Amino acid sequence: ALSCGIVGLPNVGKSTLFNAITQAGAEMANYPFCTIDPNVGVVEVPDERLQKLADIVNPNRIVPTAFEFVDIAGLVKGASRGEGLGNKFLANIREVDAIVHVVRCFQDENITHVSGKIDPINDIEVINLELILTDIDSVEKRMERTRKGLKGGDKKVAEELEVLERLHAALTAEKAARTVELSAEEKHIVRDLHLLTMKPVLYAANVSESEAANADGNPYVQKVREFAAAEGSEVVYISAKVESEIAELEGEDKEMFFEELGLTESGLDRLIRASYKLLGLYTYFTAGVQEVRAWTIRKGTKAPQAAAVIHTDFERGFIRAEVVSYADLTNSGSMKAAKEKGLTRLEGKEYVVADGDVMHFLFNV
Ligand code: GDP
Repeated sequence: ALSCGIVGLPNVGKSTLFNAITQAGAEMANYPFCTIDPNVGVVEVPDERLQKLADIVNPNRIVPTAFEFVDIAGLVKGASRGEGLGNKFLANIREVDAIVHVVRCFQDENITHVSGKIDPINDIEVINLELILTDIDSVEKRMERTRKGLKGGDKKVAEELEVLERLHAALTAEKAARTVELSAEEKHIVRDLHLLTMKPVLYAANVSESEAANADGNPYVQKVREFAAAEGSEVVYISAKVESEIAELEGEDKEMFFEELGLTESGLDRLIRASYKLLGLYTYFTAGVQEVRAWTIRKGTKAPQAAAVIHTDFERGFIRAEVVSYADLTNSGSMKAAKEKGLTRLEGKEYVVADGDVMHFLFNV
């Protein structure tokens, strides 16, 4: 399953946020892919389209799609040299598909800051430097191996070395690997290095309770936004403390709390949606009387591989798929009406599934 790792300096609010995630956590029964691990929290992806589809189909149940957040605590200055539990945590980051970097933007005299004052940009740079140093190490090891192979004068080897050198130059200038422009082919060459700073990043600015609904006036958040814009990353503000309180409420109590704070949706929902986007994910739907359900695929996935997300047998026995877009189906008001208007299509093995497609797979068992 795809996952986002939560990183950040100590005392910025990671555990608070992660606890909110696990408490709001999805029923595991629906998501057999999920790992049973205390450091992994499963979240459902809020999607208004599910209810609209349910209004048309009247299913027995609605099942949102889900993905995992991994708590990667303990990343401290010096981790790349093995300080703290450094190497173990860096290895955990290697396994996630994207990074949510929590930075402290809240004021609270009772909570000590590891470097003595609130300075989110410095915090970001401290963590990034550890990731960069780890990547330099990976790239240098690989360069050494590649150079040995160069004696034969292989063109491929020279190409690889050229890419590695470009990455090395950026990293030693303390720039993340993701800032280096690489072609699809070049990316493929270095993919198995699993560079930490190649992964997409979302900054989660942890703000005070009073700013949960609107943190535009927070100067630290502004700084994080400027920093993120310069490297092409996204920012979501969130009050971890408020989220941990929301996670404990239900029904009317929750509504009242939202009203009190002026919230229209939880920060966690915003964070989940932003993370989903960061991972480059698409959603397609199945809509039957049993269930209306959302499924996650990567952008560019073809129909048989999309079917495999439901069951591997669906890929093997794939014949074709009946497809209607979410907009066409909801505008038509029913599957029957969409069919009569000629808005449903039969698609084959090469069809690239679009976000929002409502799919019905036909397959051999
Ligand atoms: P971690 O070390 O990054 O996991 O940080 P924690 O989640 O343990 O938080 C450190 C301390 O900051 C705890 O005492 C939290 O209650 C507090 N804290 C976290 N988020 C907020 C917040 O939004 N506002 C305030 N005032 N305190 C917070």
